[in-house]
Amino acid sequence: AKREGKNTYRFFCRSSAITSLKNLEIKDDLRRALNHNELQLAYQPQICARSGRLVGCEALLRWHHPDKGWIPPDVFIPVAEQSGLILPLGRWVILEACHQIKAWQNAGNAVPRVSVNVSFVQLLREDMHTLLHDCLTGLDLAPDCLAVEVTESSIMRGEEAISQLRKIRKSGIRVALDDFGTGYSSLSALKGLPIDELKIDKSFVTDLNQGTDGKAIMSAVIAMARQLNLEVVAEGVETDTELAYLRQKGADIIQGYYFSKPLLHGEFSAYLNQHSAS
Ligand code: C2E
Ligand code: CA
Ligand code: CA
Ligand code: CA
Repeated sequence: AKREGKNTYRFFCRSSAITSLKNLEIKDDLRRALNHNELQLAYQPQICARSGRLVGCEALLRWHHPDKGWIPPDVFIPVAEQSGLILPLGRWVILEACHQIKAWQNAGNAVPRVSVNVSFVQLLREDMHTLLHDCLTGLDLAPDCLAVEVTESSIMRGEEAISQLRKIRKSGIRVALDDFGTGYSSLSALKGLPIDELKIDKSFVTDLNQGTDGKAIMSAVIAMARQLNLEVVAEGVETDTELAYLRQKGADIIQGYYFSKPLLHGEFSAYLNQHSAS
């Protein structure tokens, strides 16, 4: 049993050494990616549950590495957060989203609100209100063009993050609480937080197919969010059955493969031309 324990330990060390080497590599490559146009945003449609209209989209980072191909954000975002690269990366995302909104507007489209993801590191180390304000005014865009998505766990990190969000929201930018239900906060802890919208994590949508408990939880979350005057976005919606249940319970906005995967800007332009509310 002793030997087994030792082997397990050595295996653990070796694999964590490999992980940190890999992360070093990702970090160097990511720094280069930022300066060499390897990053793009993909936009995933958000659909009004009642009218079926396109009301927004979420901007999601895509990285095409010259040798390794597509690298998923779940892999490189944590590395960017640990290394501080998330600060220039996050600035690029906001600037790119604003330029894209402007380009779609100039092409004559009615552009739905664009949500950008903001990391807790940005909330703690960057003046996000000024950054967002400067991007918007520099391009002559209205604040309601944009929403920011912050995770439940980052907003629970303390008063600094919350006061940043309060300023952002006061300026007219929408604030969404992302991945709701995966952290430890209760619905009552949301009372008084500067948020407009609750995004129910896709694991809860998936659980709708797992019998009555999943449905009961979803129905309770939607009901309470509505009592707090928060809009409810359900993400990761893939099937008819999920959509029907969410509609019946009063979810406001639906995002997921059922309607569309995230689309690169050219594809999203085509989507806009087909689905514009006109
Ligand atoms: P997230 O913010 O929770 O984004 C939703 C994720 O769910 C996206 O994965 C999206 O492609 C995926 N998704 C949407 N609909 C469906 C569906 O119907 N089924 C399934 N199975 N998946 C669906 P993605 O693009 O791989 O992004 C993963 C995570 O990376 C995001 O999770 C977010 O936490 C992070 N991320 C992406 N872009 C950024 C960014 O610009 N900044 C920061 N800080 N984080 C980002
Ligand atoms: Ca998000
Ligand atoms: Ca999410
Ligand atoms: Ca997530």
